[in-house]
Amino acid sequence: MFFDTHCHLNDRRYQKDIKGYVERAREAGVNYLLVVAWDVGSSKKAIKIAEKFPNVYAAVGIHPTDAVKTPKSDIQELELLLTHPKVVAVGEIGLDYHWIKNPKEREIEYEFFVAQIELANKYKKPVIIHMRDATNDTYEILKNNTPKYQGVMHSYSGSKEMVKRFTDLGFYISLGGPVTFLNAREPKEVALVVPEDKLLIETDAPYLTPHPYRGKINESAKIPLIATAIAAIRNVSVEKVEEFTTKNAKRLFRI
Ligand SMILES: [Zn+2]
Repeated sequence: MFFDTHCHLNDRRYQKDIKGYVERAREAGVNYLLVVAWDVGSSKKAIKIAEKFPNVYAAVGIHPTDAVKTPKSDIQELELLLTHPKVVAVGEIGLDYHWIKNPKEREIEYEFFVAQIELANKYKKPVIIHMRDATNDTYEILKNNTPKYQGVMHSYSGSKEMVKRFTDLGFYISLGGPVTFLNAREPKEVALVVPEDKLLIETDAPYLTPHPYRGKINESAKIPLIATAIAAIRNVSVEKVEEFTTKNAKRLFRI
């Protein structure tokens, strides 16, 4: 059984076919799904979906690019959701310097990031980190405000050299579609060096569709393509990747 540790089944594009999405995932052997949010509305939607299906869980949080257009009071709204039994993580949270260039807006990203790490610690949840073009600052924040219940670097796009520094802070490294891309060098290098007990897999659906389906909408049923690519890189069987990534996800999210 595979565990897709990061999908956005709460995205509008899936609204009419949530049941079909979950069924297709199961048919592909992907029995566990974590539906990840980007704001308060999508957090509530993630919980609603998780309530309907066994083995489907929710993460609640405010994404850095959404933080800049969000009132601070949303943090309190988010806090009310953290006691729900199907909420297993705070996310996605972090820093995005690719889309956010303005220093004042980056300051807002930072404030939401730290406030949500504190929430995660208060409610004993791991965090799901979005980090884009901001490796050094993300690392510094995590080092100075270390999440007590660990977390995952989602769709990790940092260097293989940084892997050890993040895993030393207690983080898991999650890889998705890019590890299947023919021209992607860095994710393949990362797939090779992450310790077996720290690696997770994810689709980030509807984004980052694996090869050879790039350009189409992604979904959790495509997880085996990602596991197959990682298995080839690490020179182990797909079953082995399936086994240890699912075990890791269950350990991290306490499932
Ligand atoms: Zn995402």
